[in-house]
Amino acid sequence: MLPDLSIVAPMYNESQGLDDFFTTLSPILEGLELPWEMVCINDGSRDDTLERLTAFHQQDPRIKVIDLSRNFGKEAAMTAGLDLAQGRAVIPIDADLQDDPMLIPEMVAKWREGYEVVLAKRASRKEDTPFKRFTAGSFYRLINIVSRVEIPENTGDFRLMDRVVVDAIKRLDEKNRFMKGLFAWAGFKTCTLTFERKARTKGDSKWNYRRLWTLALDGIFSFSNLPLKVWTYLGLAISS
Ligand code: UDP
Ligand code: MG
Repeated sequence: MLPDLSIVAPMYNESQGLDDFFTTLSPILEGLELPWEMVCINDGSRDDTLERLTAFHQQDPRIKVIDLSRNFGKEAAMTAGLDLAQGRAVIPIDADLQDDPMLIPEMVAKWREGYEVVLAKRASRKEDTPFKRFTAGSFYRLINIVSRVEIPENTGDFRLMDRVVVDAIKRLDEKNRFMKGLFAWAGFKTCTLTFERKARTKGDSKWNYRRLWTLALDGIFSFSNLPLKVWTYLGLAISS
């Protein structure tokens, strides 16, 4: 029987937090009283994430494991998860419990009301440093000026998507995948829930400023032709 709900969790060196992750999520999913699966993607972890995931899978086959051949980054890991998730609704979620799993029942309720996308927006960024707040705010302002697709502010990858949305995204053959942009590009009937994003308790963030900068540039180059125009006009000016 195909699951109604797929949880997609990309994982890179998350071994320390796995017990908390499964003990928090499993009862919430059981409470929904629908068939579910958890698709966990090991994104080339250097710790024992894969061995531990395999043990969880042996205990409960609804926990499924995808093992990538090296660390490809969260966007690629999530793509692999979306490709193999079978649910009629799919929720990507971080493995560190920063995306509040208590929101899942509310997301499912909205989906049952007929929404095809249920976004989870951060109520505030008070957990972030002032510098991160400033850079994140500037990024959203800039990308929403230069891009024709509106990318909702302070909304991560944590969201519910109906099968129609997932299938639309799967048809995109972009190699550089700025997932937030692709999700927003897809459209569909959307509603938004808000939540307080908690601090990470186990392990460390894998996103340093260098990686965030690369992600921001990927977003801007994939969703705007402004950089191309700038160089075209500059080139014309120099040649003339
Ligand atoms: N992640 C991944 N591959 C990477 C980096 C991160 O699969 O190369 C996963 C990570 O294990 C976590 C999620 O992406 O489940 C978000 O990462 P993290 O918590 O480090 O990001 P932050 O919350 O600090 O933005
Ligand atoms: Mg995190």
